[in-house]
Amino acid sequence: MTGIDIKEFTVHSSQFTVLRILKQAEEEIRVSGVPNPRLDAEALLSRALDIDRVGLYTQYERILSEEEVNNFFGLVKRRNKREPLQYILGNTEFFGLGFIVTPDVLIPRPETELLVEEALKQFTAYGSQFTVLDLCTGSGCIAVTLAKKLEGVRIYGVDISARALRVAKENARRHRVEGKINFIQGDLFEPFTVHGSRFTVHGCRFNLIVSNPPYIPSSEIDFLQEEVKDYEPREALDGGNNGLSFLKRIIKEAPDYLKAGGSLLLEIGYGQKERVYEIAEEREIYQTHKVIKDFAGIERVVKLNIR
Ligand code: GLN
Repeated sequence: MTGIDIKEFTVHSSQFTVLRILKQAEEEIRVSGVPNPRLDAEALLSRALDIDRVGLYTQYERILSEEEVNNFFGLVKRRNKREPLQYILGNTEFFGLGFIVTPDVLIPRPETELLVEEALKQFTAYGSQFTVLDLCTGSGCIAVTLAKKLEGVRIYGVDISARALRVAKENARRHRVEGKINFIQGDLFEPFTVHGSRFTVHGCRFNLIVSNPPYIPSSEIDFLQEEVKDYEPREALDGGNNGLSFLKRIIKEAPDYLKAGGSLLLEIGYGQKERVYEIAEEREIYQTHKVIKDFAGIERVVKLNIR
């Protein structure tokens, strides 16, 4: 028998030490097919007991109260249904910073840190008075990280989801950068367009436009892992037929909102680079481009520069 009868354990909860409950939970989580059961069990127990991981190691023999046991198994049950650990905990780490995440936003991925690194390099080349537009800002992880790392930067974070923007604003507030970022609800460039004609923010265009838009082909979403397909917002994942619908719109319109010499930095999906370059070539204004591979060797971030 592999399952654990939670009721039976709650009756005898006085017998649960930290070490014992961790082992039980680890087994239960493993059975449901989660890749790092021990790590997740520890993270969930830390949360249920409100102590850090090191705290767990120093209290292996601590006997848990019935309430602690029940709380913990409540969290384990959610994880066993493949709810992402980050949603259960309500936070995650991105670029070494803590971010709040809710099911209204995509969970920030390590690959996106590559985009942020590249954006930071771009800034060093410019100096002060740097303006950035972050399209599909989601949790605000890109905008907030840039605001945190850069002096004298002004950032505009756009998302179509008002609920996502609430999370992004809270993240900005927690990192005390709300004064450097304007979060605006809208469909890509729409907030900066009036009656079809462009208007510019504070009399200038952007030095840099960044985006990690939805880029997964619609037909592939059902084959993603349960954590993603069943819990993350579909509108943050779904890039239409070939996954390129947002990338295409962004590449086509971005030059109208970039300063001379400005750049567009995009996160892209597996195998999308060639099409992305072709779309860029259709707008003759793009001059140079560069691609950055992720940890798995996949071409993940594309940088397009305009004249
Ligand atoms: N900009 C956010 C991120 O990189 C959200 C992206 C999205 O929702 N597609 O995580």
